[in-house]
Amino acid sequence: MREDTRRWIEADKRHCWHPFTPQQAWTVGGHDPLVLVRGEGAWLWDSEGRKYFDGNSSIWTNIHGHHHPLLNEALRKQSEEVAHTSYLGFANPRASELAERLVAFFPPNTLERVFFSDDGSTAVEVAMKMSLQFWMQTGGAQRNRFVAFVNGYHGDTMGAASLGGVSRFFERFRGFGVEVDFVASLDDFSKQDTSKVAAVIVEPLIQGVNEMRPWPQGMLEGLRDGCDKAGVHLILDEVMTGFGRTGTMFACEQESVVPDFLCLAKGLTGGYLPMAATLTTGKVYEAFLGDAENAFYYGHSYTANPLGCALALASLGLFESEKTLEKLKPKIAAMTGLLADLKESQALVHEVRQCGFVAGIELRQADGSPFLPSEKMGEKVCMAAREHGLLTRPIRDTIVLMPPLCSEAGQLGFAVSALSKALDEF
Ligand code: PMP
Repeated sequence: MREDTRRWIEADKRHCWHPFTPQQAWTVGGHDPLVLVRGEGAWLWDSEGRKYFDGNSSIWTNIHGHHHPLLNEALRKQSEEVAHTSYLGFANPRASELAERLVAFFPPNTLERVFFSDDGSTAVEVAMKMSLQFWMQTGGAQRNRFVAFVNGYHGDTMGAASLGGVSRFFERFRGFGVEVDFVASLDDFSKQDTSKVAAVIVEPLIQGVNEMRPWPQGMLEGLRDGCDKAGVHLILDEVMTGFGRTGTMFACEQESVVPDFLCLAKGLTGGYLPMAATLTTGKVYEAFLGDAENAFYYGHSYTANPLGCALALASLGLFESEKTLEKLKPKIAAMTGLLADLKESQALVHEVRQCGFVAGIELRQADGSPFLPSEKMGEKVCMAAREHGLLTRPIRDTIVLMPPLCSEAGQLGFAVSALSKALDEF
């Protein structure tokens, strides 16, 4: 191991604390985390000079690849003007341009306002607070609960976490957040008493953290209908699905649904910088006009950060100049084919779930029964795949394959073959 690598790992183990990580196991001797130092397109390199395919788009963020010349240029150009200015009391050119660009994706008089924040979780917090305050200011103060879906995931800040339906992450914090009724399906929702509900939140088309589970076709359209009938807000959490992942710019397009709140983050800057946006309607916005007391008293220091906005604009520019979505269609088909072959040839592949360029590969024992959680099969297979040049993470025993949209068919082949070689070892 190189001297630098050893030093970085030692400092990490002594002082750093990683997300979603049992630190005891992380810090033991013998566990040497990869130190990632460089990227190019869909490839990453570690500090030992080894090359890997970025199979989960660096936790679902990267779109056009790493070290993209035009994104680098946008970052450089903006940093030569100014890196950050306050959005509290001031406007900035890139934020104005980006807001205009984002609302242009939606029909006129639908989503027409953009509130910037920093991460997926804060995009959701913003939507929650806006919805609650909307009802307080429009004579509906009794609407102070949310409906969310079992096994859904919306982030880790306290409000967003209370909407989270993945019990192993969120159960211990129940009672510290907002009031939420959990439903399992559209049918369940339609039986719900919604008289006290402010908003319903859902990950459209596919639940990500729930081991990549797509919803039945028509679910989203039905939910929009249900929300309209019940007179409650629909919040779409497109933190994962936004920016092309499901094959269209936004997942909601596929069922012609426009929500009352749209939460965007991860891919917004092409995967370069943390930045989020919550889009909402003129109707919601108008409830915050009038008295100063009606204003939305919410914001973060880095709201509408000019570097992030410049990158988001450049990323949206690349969708056009590189025809990202057109080129994605055959790649989605290639992924389907490769994963079908994998399932055919590997007894441990129980099910492949795919939505656009997002796939979950569920592993089970050859007889179809699940592995014991203590076997950590998903983790073991991902560690083995790493040795064959594929970086990704499992969700329990489901291996996530969510490569950058720029990945070529040959690179997909490389990734699936790495996974196949890893599976051969078990
Ligand atoms: N919503 C969804 C659907 C997500 O997948 C995530 C993160 N995986 C979040 C919200 C939270 O985003 P962040 O980690 O940027 O706070």
